[in-house]
Amino acid sequence: MTPDTPLSALRGVGPRRAADLASAGLRTVGDLLARFPLRYEDRSRFRDVSTVSAGETVTLAGTVVSCGLRLTRRPGFKLFEAAVRDAGGTIRAVWLNQPFMANVLTRGADVILFGTVERRDAGGLQMTNPQYELPGRGNRESIHTGRIVPIYEKAGCVTCRVQRALVHDVLEQLPADAPDVIPAWLRQDLGLPGWRDSVAAAHFPDDSSSIERLNAFRTPAQLRLILEEFLLFQVGIGLRKREVDAERKTRVPVVDDRVRAVARALLPFRLTAGQRQALKDIVDDMTRPRPMQRLLQGDVGAGKTIVALLAAVVAMENGLQVAFMAPTEILAEQHYLTIRRQLAPAGYDVALLTGACAARERRSILGRLAAGRAQLVVGTHALVQQDVAFAKLGLVVVDEQHRFGVLQRAVLREKGWRPDVLVMTATPIPRTLALTVYGDLDVSVIRDLPPGRRPVTTTAKAQARRAEVHRFVRSQLEAGRQAYVVYPLVEESSKVDVRAATEMADHLAAEVFPEYRVELLHGRMRPGEKERVMRAFAAGDAHVLVSTTVVEVGIDVPNATVMVVEHAERFGLAQLHQLRGRVGRGAHQSYCLLVYQDPPGEAGEARLRALVETVDGFVIAERDLELRGPGDFFGTRQSGVPTLRSGDFVRDRDILEQARQLAAAALEKEPPESPLLSEARRSWGDRFGLAAVG
Ligand code: ADP
Ligand code: MG
Repeated sequence: MTPDTPLSALRGVGPRRAADLASAGLRTVGDLLARFPLRYEDRSRFRDVSTVSAGETVTLAGTVVSCGLRLTRRPGFKLFEAAVRDAGGTIRAVWLNQPFMANVLTRGADVILFGTVERRDAGGLQMTNPQYELPGRGNRESIHTGRIVPIYEKAGCVTCRVQRALVHDVLEQLPADAPDVIPAWLRQDLGLPGWRDSVAAAHFPDDSSSIERLNAFRTPAQLRLILEEFLLFQVGIGLRKREVDAERKTRVPVVDDRVRAVARALLPFRLTAGQRQALKDIVDDMTRPRPMQRLLQGDVGAGKTIVALLAAVVAMENGLQVAFMAPTEILAEQHYLTIRRQLAPAGYDVALLTGACAARERRSILGRLAAGRAQLVVGTHALVQQDVAFAKLGLVVVDEQHRFGVLQRAVLREKGWRPDVLVMTATPIPRTLALTVYGDLDVSVIRDLPPGRRPVTTTAKAQARRAEVHRFVRSQLEAGRQAYVVYPLVEESSKVDVRAATEMADHLAAEVFPEYRVELLHGRMRPGEKERVMRAFAAGDAHVLVSTTVVEVGIDVPNATVMVVEHAERFGLAQLHQLRGRVGRGAHQSYCLLVYQDPPGEAGEARLRALVETVDGFVIAERDLELRGPGDFFGTRQSGVPTLRSGDFVRDRDILEQARQLAAAALEKEPPESPLLSEARRSWGDRFGLAAVG
């Protein structure tokens, strides 16, 4: 048996179990061992029936004095009961609807029970569905009771108990000299235990281990395995970075006075210091032979678009094409309008390619792109995935906002394109996650905001005070400003949500703000209709824009100063921060009013409080990560967040940082075919599930 042995080859794992384990990401022995228990339970101290009382969870060892199956009044419902006696007395154990227990427990058998004690109405003590074990059978070490036991998450039909037995079997069969991917020099330096001992101790710790430490995942064995996982991941990132560094672009742009003059002529304002630095980073990258792989971070409103556009000008002035990708069609349309307006004086050929394009228009755009006539194309991520051909694609800008489509880079490479890639994100990413998800990107951060911006004033209000909210909105409308009212979308384009938003828009239009123009924007509208609404709002013709979360990203209307979020308790922190970023974009003081259903719930309240307390996106990002964990932070799978089996991005941040440094050292020292590097290569897809990403 080796870590590579498929689980389906194990005794007791048939096709059904193998499939269920596989759907939990467990295919090999190595997978099974790398995955930590959820927690540990101390079942090592035996109690005595005379000392236990109702409500306690205890381990008992005794002998079955009588047992049998009983029918109950409910037809077909069977109950197996056993009287178990130890030195202190007798307790009743019952198993509901588990008739097979009749084949497991017989009179006179020794048994260990673990469970919560209840007092019976009839008097006496009872355990219902306790964990059990028959000690001394075939010399088997007890694994489910009588020790500190690991508790695993159920995988389909494969219960915790079955997994525990599986892991135990596997550990017994592993050769003593099982290979260790952490190089010996590193283990010695850090005094790390070996792999074989570590997996054994992480799953079946001996009784002297501290249960608190185990449950904090801080025993030496656990720490070593966490470090190993992060090390593999960081070495994987290092290897990929090496590959990219060796790539060469087909044409390296040059920035001379002519290019500078064109860019300057297009610039509508003075760049902030942060924008200037970011632009310098980007242009430096672009004028180097290896393709740029840069992440541009900046809070909403920091002014990332103009920086990307100036980069686009550099590419276009060098005869290269630019693809500008947005996360949604609405945003693509909006970007297109802004970009076309800003680039108009230079006379570039700019196209918009979305699902809404008519077939003939689409063919024409594709033709212009393939012939190299269209210089910049705006679209969604589908741009690079479809049958789009570019004559000379030089720059790809990915405006991710807070969605993370690391995927596209892989697609680009598959197509044999080696353009410069600029990924922009509006959600400041906590450092830990930036290191992981975007670990192989260079990062520029715009920390300052364009001049004259005032921080948005944020308040949370219970629904009962909605009238106050409406009065406030009215006062802003009277002052000539505009307002957003946002409804949560439970499912994108869901009918029910659309109806709720529609009704609210009607209500606001007819009863609350009858003298103002209220418009509705939602995901099920036809693109032309959406554009009409957005145009009207952007032009100031519509005063209140009621919408589902589709406007959360990108829309830019400086005269809008109020953002009302209904059911704010349902939104995630990052999302709320994005929504708030829609206002505060002009010279006027702006307001964000979070209307919540009372009580908002503990988590909801924590989020609302975070929003009210700070406008700093970086602080919010850290808070969000703590509140939700990394999976939810990024929202979706395929986001580039690796599947972890041992480590945890929040709990183990410090180890991740350490692993990053060690990985750099290991990449210098270890030969390409060393166990660590080979395993890191393999892990990327197999273990971390990132094959299709990055
Ligand atoms: P984001 O980083 O959220 O994408 P945008 O690029 O949409 O931000 O910029 C937000 C707004 O700020 C836009 O209206 C843009 O024209 C304006 N803006 C950007 N940079 C500056 C600047 N240096 N001075 C003044 N206004 C700016
Ligand atoms: Mg933007």
